[in-house]
Amino acid sequence: MLPSDDDTGSMTWMSRGACQREDPELFFPIAANGPAPEKIKAAKRVCRCCAVSAACLSFGLSTPQDGIWGGTTRGERSAMRKRRARVAGHISRMAGAGGATAGPAVPQYGRPRPAGRSAAAGPPGAGQGPR
Ligand code: SF4
Repeated sequence: MLPSDDDTGSMTWMSRGACQREDPELFFPIAANGPAPEKIKAAKRVCRCCAVSAACLSFGLSTPQDGIWGGTTRGERSAMRKRRARVAGHISRMAGAGGATAGPAVPQYGRPRPAGRSAAAGPPGAGQGPR
């Protein structure tokens, strides 16, 4: 399902984009030695002020779009997808290794405690007053 701004799956967010008042060519810059870098910068400036940039980026990430979507280029979205896939793979491996659900109990504060010290005892020196 494409990103939507309501439960009906509509994409009315597009009509509220700040780019609706701009030259459409700005958002589909030509990549060959032309003015593309300047157009990309200008398009990104518009996107930064856009009220629907999150929905737009989500759409751009979920579909193979050319041009600027949610303030990102096609290449930037591709890199974001790869990072997201790497993170998902890492989480999956961690869960498979028992890290997420069946791993050893991790004491409060995330590190082992010395023998005989419980979490209730607090940090070293707690309750001893000033020295
Ligand atoms: S984020 Fe950018 S491309 Fe997307 S709707 Fe807004 S202005 Fe248009």
